[in-house]
Amino acid sequence: MMTEKVPDKMLACVLHGKEDARLEEIPVPTLQAGDLLLKVEAALTCGTDLKVFLRGYHERMIQPPSVFGHEFAGKVVVSENGRFPAGTRIVAANSAPCGNCYFCELGKPNLCTDLLFANGAYAEYVRIPSRIVEKNCLPLPPDLPAAKAALVEPLACAVKGVEDVKIKTGEKVLVIGAGPLGLMLARLSVLAGAEVTTVDDQSDRLAVAAELGVTYTVAERLSPHLIERMRHDYTPHGLGFDCVIEAVGKPETWNHAVELVRPGARVNLFGGCPRGTELRVDTTRLHYDEIRIYASFHHTPETVRKALEFVKSSQVPAFSLVREGRSLLDLPEVLQEMREGKSPPKTAILPRLPAGSRLSVDELETFK
Ligand SMILES: [Zn+2]
Ligand SMILES: [Zn+2]
Repeated sequence: MMTEKVPDKMLACVLHGKEDARLEEIPVPTLQAGDLLLKVEAALTCGTDLKVFLRGYHERMIQPPSVFGHEFAGKVVVSENGRFPAGTRIVAANSAPCGNCYFCELGKPNLCTDLLFANGAYAEYVRIPSRIVEKNCLPLPPDLPAAKAALVEPLACAVKGVEDVKIKTGEKVLVIGAGPLGLMLARLSVLAGAEVTTVDDQSDRLAVAAELGVTYTVAERLSPHLIERMRHDYTPHGLGFDCVIEAVGKPETWNHAVELVRPGARVNLFGGCPRGTELRVDTTRLHYDEIRIYASFHHTPETVRKALEFVKSSQVPAFSLVREGRSLLDLPEVLQEMREGKSPPKTAILPRLPAGSRLSVDELETFK
């Protein structure tokens, strides 16, 4: 395999603080034993990155000035790890569990007390630390576009979310929220055989839900009145859904989720709420109605692998979510568009694309 010459400097988007992201020439990351240097073919935009951009930092992962971006795929250009020689195209998750702590040994690696994160995908090159290489790095088939493969990380979270509530054929499932994760949760519920309803006040997002096989879409803001109507219109005897997945991340929608299930049903409070917020639940609902409440956090090496299979088989059609390719040079503009709600569910950020260009899904399919 030919090894590619790697320059000393690279283009990267550096977060300097609140709403201050700048394109800069910075040194290419240096590697330690077991690491890989990846040439980023595509990175995807994510609501978390938008939050980080608006706030200027992330408690656990990003203190400015810092590179960011955590959904990516590309080609290994320098390898300090025998598992993936230079030239291999891979997708890597943004984290890996330690494998030794109490929770790792308990079989709950998403709760690992020492999760190691990788960031910096909005750049020409990104370093993948050896632990992620060992645990959460997967080779790609040659014909799989990087812009599709990069969906693996968020999809792995959705796979866990749907598995946690064990959705069965024929169940009536409601997904609240049609952001990227809501859409993926809805698609996976469809694949599990459920009849899925999605509610969101943005109707363009609901068009994507319909494309993904969702049976009913409700383009309205949740209110007590709408909750009554949805129970009546979409569930047997008006009792409520068999399972509701909240993918918004607000305490008030968490409450709506609990109100929308039938007795004996499951709720997955999937959307993370701001730290310190609280949920009040009617004890009657929990005890006499036997409602089971779940909440799913992050992904595991197992769901990362399953996510790649869903993308490879097109059972989750990545380009229903990733609908456009933009240049890394235009990332600050893309972030502003996301903030104004003018963007598709996901945008592929392509370091090698000239500024100002926009690639359609068809062009992304063949973009190498
Ligand atoms: Zn993400
Ligand atoms: Zn651990």
